[in-house]
Amino acid sequence: MTITSINPATNKTLETFESLSKDETMAAVAKADDAFRDWRQTSFDHRKNIILKFASQLRERADEFARLITLDMGKRISESQREIEYCAEISEFYANGAETFLADQPMELEGVDAYIQYAPLGVLMGVMPWNFPFYQVTRFATPNIMAGNVVMVKHASNVPQCAQAITELFTACGLPEGVYTNLFIPTEFVEAIVSDRRVQGVSLTGSEKAGAAVAAVAGKNLKRSVLELGGNDPFIVLEDADLAKTVELAVKGRMVNAGQSCVASKRFIVVEAVADEFLAEFKEQMANVTMGDPMDEATTLAPLSSEAAAVQLQEQVQATIDAGATVLLGGDRPDREGAFFNPTILTGITPDMPSFDQELFGPVASVYIVKDEAAAIELANHSSYGLGGSVYTNDVQRGRRVAEQIETGMMFVNQPTRSQAELPFGGIKNSGYGRELSHLGILEFVNKKLIHLG
Ligand code: NAP
Repeated sequence: MTITSINPATNKTLETFESLSKDETMAAVAKADDAFRDWRQTSFDHRKNIILKFASQLRERADEFARLITLDMGKRISESQREIEYCAEISEFYANGAETFLADQPMELEGVDAYIQYAPLGVLMGVMPWNFPFYQVTRFATPNIMAGNVVMVKHASNVPQCAQAITELFTACGLPEGVYTNLFIPTEFVEAIVSDRRVQGVSLTGSEKAGAAVAAVAGKNLKRSVLELGGNDPFIVLEDADLAKTVELAVKGRMVNAGQSCVASKRFIVVEAVADEFLAEFKEQMANVTMGDPMDEATTLAPLSSEAAAVQLQEQVQATIDAGATVLLGGDRPDREGAFFNPTILTGITPDMPSFDQELFGPVASVYIVKDEAAAIELANHSSYGLGGSVYTNDVQRGRRVAEQIETGMMFVNQPTRSQAELPFGGIKNSGYGRELSHLGILEFVNKKLIHLG
């Protein structure tokens, strides 16, 4: 089997990589397990030097890596550059913070001399998506490597150039063989890896379907797992919001990465007092995009990650239109080469329609008009997802009150959900479980071990 990079802006094949056989894959697991024995003994300073080098190399070679992202999955080049810079920030955050986050924690109990040690677990498996090909891997790999674990990564099959570049970079920065392993493998091999007694846990970022499949294998084998899955984030506009600013953020929140972000704003829930004004301005700004080559700095709307992704989005949108939703803007694909999709706004979506509870992974906004704040909260929570969300109001206390009532893992007041190294990232319900980033991210795959000194 081969793994192929196809430029979604042209649908042309760029490069093909050979995938590993099952035997080669299991040999890589054995090598990782061997590497763990030495790596777990290394000092924080040693690990820190390597991860800081990784960060500085990311910055130094940012143009080269950004280009690979854009070629593999079509992201706008300026967004690819920002992704690389952000990976450097995450790497530095864990390189500099790990020793503090994982310091022994004395127990505050009278007459007891005991502490909690944060010990590494061993070989971890990562299954990663294509939408932020450097970022997803960095946020899984760097905290775990700093914690003394070793990681193996099966990246999404449409971003092999990025997968190859990441593993080469870790090696070039001095990471010993087996501490980070890139696996060009078919999805079917993941089960054998996670079931292997030498593998201690698995972290998957991707769809619910993939998450459920991998979590089932982890459960059957009593392995720890972290799932970062899809989202259908509410963007709640209350009547006292600064509308001009809110519309600008709505467009930004929806159009990030051509709409292909788990925490993109997807459901715009607007109270009726400001709905007409919001919709008119939102439509104007959503329509005002420059679709084109993602390598061109002037482009503001890039293609989707693949032809298959564009076809799937078209099917979801059409099914919703056929069920009675209203198209305020777009609703279809442009007549041009590449995996492009027109900016789209749908209104009048009801709970019985297909896309009501589905993630639309592209530049498609669903707008819901509701009577008041209470109805907005109720609708926001009427979702099987629970990743992020945001609320817009001039009254921060009101924003806080609303945010506390929304069933998600992350809520922001007056800005769309975003990721930052210091902030915990993750969801509830079908959006998964566990947290990445922040001090919480490094605690997912460590043994919180009690040492009692008698
Ligand atoms: P996907 O199809 O689920 O793929 C994700 C990864 O899982 C890929 O490496 C894929 O391999 C692998 N995979 C698929 N089925 C599998 C199975 N049965 N067993 C083992 N591995 C399997 O998702 P995607 O289309 O790449 O990514 C988009 C989804 O990810 C969206 O739902 C998005 O919201 C979500 N996401 C969530 C977060 C978060 O932090 N919560 C962040 C980014 C994206 P192949 O590529 O070889 O199929």
